[in-house]
Amino acid sequence: MIIVKDLKKRYNDFAVLHGINLNISKGDIYGLVGRSGAGKSTLLRCINGLESYDEGKLIVNGMEMSSYNREGLREARKEIGMIFQNFSLLERKTVYDNVALPMVCWKYPNSEIDKRVNELLELVGILDKRNKRPRNLSGGQKQRVAIARALALNPKILLCDEATSALDPKTTKSILALLREINEKLGITIIIVTHQIEVVKQICNKACILENGKIVEEGSVEEIFFRQ
Ligand code: ADP
Ligand code: ADP
Repeated sequence: MIIVKDLKKRYNDFAVLHGINLNISKGDIYGLVGRSGAGKSTLLRCINGLESYDEGKLIVNGMEMSSYNREGLREARKEIGMIFQNFSLLERKTVYDNVALPMVCWKYPNSEIDKRVNELLELVGILDKRNKRPRNLSGGQKQRVAIARALALNPKILLCDEATSALDPKTTKSILALLREINEKLGITIIIVTHQIEVVKQICNKACILENGKIVEEGSVEEIFFRQ
């Protein structure tokens, strides 16, 4: 599903990714762990086509990310949903409109939008909040809205950038349970970027540890975190 080979990226004279090698299979819940500044977000942004890279290969859904033109990249990005630490919701729009937004941008018919938003809100467990604005929701509820929005275009991959870092432990557990349900029910491959090893232990099947733009460990969560 995602193949990364000798991927390199620099910001001016600062090498942020120095030859990353990864293989993420369909259906994985893959943990990308490392301290702040390790390069996790940069790698995630490359996978999502938000950032270009200098050398190496990055194949997502069978296509090299650097081979797309503008329109091709826009289409390819439909297959990749993303959620963030700060939720990134539109504060002046309702829950319903936040979730509908990607489908409105892609000019889906209103009847289809209506059906799908309701299904998604049901899936994430906040259908009753659909006319509320984000400021009237808890952190966990906001992340549920963001997850529903990320799934709106039916992606194959969901990228989670520190998605539980702003949440308390109980809410974190409930969001991780929801992500697992989405992985199992919808068959979506999930990548979880986090500095919280506990999160990876709870939900991921495979993981890698990134330090200063290099992978220092890679394998099953069992191998990396549980075996001595
Ligand atoms: P992480 O997500 O692991 O915290 P990032 O990928 O955000 O790491 O950043 C990795 C390094 O790259 C950091 O040292 C950061 O300061 C640097 N960096 C990130 N974005 C930029 C940018 N746009 N320009 C210059 N340096 C950047
Ligand atoms: P427009 O933005 O073009 O005025 P509307 O917002 O009136 O379109 O509605 C388009 C569709 O979305 C309708 O079928 C409506 O049922 C649904 N819809 C819009 N907002 C909400 C909402 N807050 N709750 C439930 N359904 C909504």
